[in-house]
Order: sequence, then C-alpha cells, then structure tokens
Amino acid sequence: MTPPPPPAPPRRGRFAPSPTGPLHFGSLLAALGSWLLARHAGGEWLVRIEDLDPPREVPGAAEAQLRTLAAFGLVSDGPVVRQSERGALYQAALERLLAGGAAFECHCSRSALAADGGIHHRCRAGGRRDTPAVRLRVPPGSTVAFEDAIQGRCAQDVHAEVGDFVLRRADGYWAYQLAVVVDDAAQGITAVVRGADLLDSTPRQILLQRALGLPTPAYAHLPLVLGADGRKLSKSLAALPVDGDDPLPALRAAWQALGQPPAALRGAGSVPAALAAAQAAFRPERIAPGPVPAPVIVPAHALE
Ligand code: GLU
Repeated sequence: MTPPPPPAPPRRGRFAPSPTGPLHFGSLLAALGSWLLARHAGGEWLVRIEDLDPPREVPGAAEAQLRTLAAFGLVSDGPVVRQSERGALYQAALERLLAGGAAFECHCSRSALAADGGIHHRCRAGGRRDTPAVRLRVPPGSTVAFEDAIQGRCAQDVHAEVGDFVLRRADGYWAYQLAVVVDDAAQGITAVVRGADLLDSTPRQILLQRALGLPTPAYAHLPLVLGADGRKLSKSLAALPVDGDDPLPALRAAWQALGQPPAALRGAGSVPAALAAAQAAFRPERIAPGPVPAPVIVPAHALE
C-alpha cells in the first residue's frame, strides 16, 4: 500500500494594518480582499498589527481598527500578533544577514545620500554614528521579477531603483521590509494580498526572502483607491474612516470595488449574511488591476 500523501501546507492569508489612524476605505478593501481570497482557497486569515513606528502611531488606533474589523465580521483565525513584541525575531534575522555579509552597518547621513537621490550604493566617508543603520547589500544585477495574481508580471531593478535598503533604522526602529518578511514567514503566510501602493516594496521583500532562505509567498496587489481628485488616498488621512456602526454600506462598496457584482449582496440584511453571500459569489478573476474611485458611502438610515 502506498502511504497517503503528506498533508498540504495550510493556505494562509493576512491583513497587516499599521495603527496610524482609523480604518479607512482602502484598508477595508485590503482586509475584505485578503479575507475573500483566503476563504476562496479554503484557507485561514490572520490579522497582524504593524506597530513598528511609534512616532507615526496614534494611541488606541490598533484597538479601534480591530473593533472596526470585527464589526465587518473580519476576525483573525489566530492570535493577533503585534510587531512591537517581536523584536527578538527581527534581531535574529538581522544577525544572520550581518554574519553572512548580506547586510552591513551604514553611517551615512541622509544629506550624504541626497546627491544620489537618496539611493545608497556605497558608504561615503564621513562621521560615525553611535547607532548606525543596517542595510541589505543590493549588488548590480539584482533585478527581481514576479507574477502578481492581479497586476500581472512585475519586475524591478532593485539596485538601480532602490539601492542598498534599510533593515534597521539609525534611530533604532526596525524597518517595515525586514519585519514583514520575517513575520510572513514565521506565520506561514502563503498569499500576501494588499494594496497596490506596496507593489514596489515586493521586489525588496523577495530579495530579503532569498537572503534569509525563506519561501516566497504568492502575491496579489489590489487596486488603489483614488480620491475624488484622482489622487491616492493617504494612508494616514482620517478623511474616510469606515463606520463600524453601519457596516453594510461600506461592505457593499468594498465588494463592488473588488469588481464583484452588487446584486450578489443585495438581499443580505446583516454582516454575516453579506459575508456568506460574498464568499459564495466571489470570483478572483473579476478584480481589476487599475485604480478604483473612492465610493460615496450612503449610510443605511438615509435609505430608509
Ligand atoms: N502595514 C502596512 C500598511 O498598513 C501593510 C503591510 C503589508 O500588507 O505588507 O500599509
């Protein structure tokens, strides 16, 4: 008798907000899109709080975001982890990169790099900092190409366009690029679904995965949400917080912004009913790559 095949690794997606303000429509789109794609694949969905940058954080924002997500029926299948508590993991990864020569300490000041458009290709002679930054070495020829499930084939010459990038900042804080790669691997994330504003971070993350010997997950970057003036909605702009007390109108708008047919949710009178209908009717191939306009969300009571 042949032994049964080993169980397939679980499919796992995630939503990883930075607690810089209330959940806005762009974040809801990323949360719902990542949840739907995870469920469509029969997988799990985790929430991770990316609280790495205290100067940009708003006290209480993480709890408010989790409450709003819960009001939309979007609840993590496992414990919610916080990056502020995971420094030891980032430190271990950094030490491996330093020991292998893939990363190096850098004393360059911002002004020293200004002449090269802020791109670091070699350290400039100059002062030494007590706490240098640590960068990943990105040699010439570091072009990374990947297939995005929504945006198609993407490629970036990371050496020319980004240069040696920061893993630990000179102010001692961990850089997003390192933390996200360590956490996606540590949490067994197999599909990274997020807004297209992060598309140009992905080649850096793939380089880091390779340097650390970590698997590369599948990527899907959702369309950007543009403001009425055609400009990108700022992440930290509290301009369009979604209303957790009246979730259905925003849930329907997010569903539609994902290219899905409005009729599928029309009969659903509650969040659980809407999510069940959404899960049943969802087709990933309907998600368009291009930007979507921010919807006008009409509160439910205005329609009564
Ligand atoms: N924390 C990032 C943000 O709020 C998202 C990171 C990611 O999904 O990789 O923009």
